[in-house]
Amino acid sequence: MNRRKLVVGNWKMNGLKAHLGEVEAIGGIAADHPGVDVGLCVPATLIAAAAQVRGGAFIGAQDCHMNASGAHTGCLSGAMLAEAGASWTIVGHSERRQDQRESDGDVAAKALAAKAAGLNVILCVGESLDVRDAGDAEAVVSAQLLASLPEGAAADWLAIAYEPIWAIGTGRIPTMEAVDAMHRALRDALASRIGGQAHGMRILYGGSMNGDNAAELMAIADVDGGLVGGASLTAGKFAPIIAAA
Ligand code: PEP
Repeated sequence: MNRRKLVVGNWKMNGLKAHLGEVEAIGGIAADHPGVDVGLCVPATLIAAAAQVRGGAFIGAQDCHMNASGAHTGCLSGAMLAEAGASWTIVGHSERRQDQRESDGDVAAKALAAKAAGLNVILCVGESLDVRDAGDAEAVVSAQLLASLPEGAAADWLAIAYEPIWAIGTGRIPTMEAVDAMHRALRDALASRIGGQAHGMRILYGGSMNGDNAAELMAIADVDGGLVGGASLTAGKFAPIIAAA
């Protein structure tokens, strides 16, 4: 199955208006690579301004509340994010699963709420180092994916990001064989739930992806792109990753 590569930056809690020049530069690089879907998930405060200079890139959010409105101080609904200019959102990033204690059920509910607001979704899963060292990574992450998967999951609005927690921001990545095995296991898990849709669904790798390792990672058959943190903060570092896709 020929899946379009998807390369998405996650700026996390980084970025002020002073950094919009990087968004604009990345949007220009994206426009030069029309065969790749390129996006930037910026802080919510930057979505509207980033959408004005996004060029060929889409702008995404980093989280979406599971409710459409109501008494949830400090939170943002899918409709708010879409109105600001986001067309995608991340849900279930390991930093939110850990810091905000988001459960698999929360993540599934957030994905559904985002879809209802017209957003596309990147749903993150990944194992701790203890789980990896115990040899349980594929079983644990497959179970996490199935528990986090929303009703009606389909390739035209949902992508998965496999992000080993121990690889995020550390400069360490799994072996290529381990990434290959995990992505195959996740596609099999998807197929067990959504059948043929699994073959069209993009499964991204995330965790210390950079210009040196991106080509090798994205050459793996079931790796359909990347979710990139630190190396997406500047056009100079993100460009070779987009080019590698
Ligand atoms: C991330 O947090 O989604 C991520 C992949 O970060 P980094 O690329 O910095 O490891």
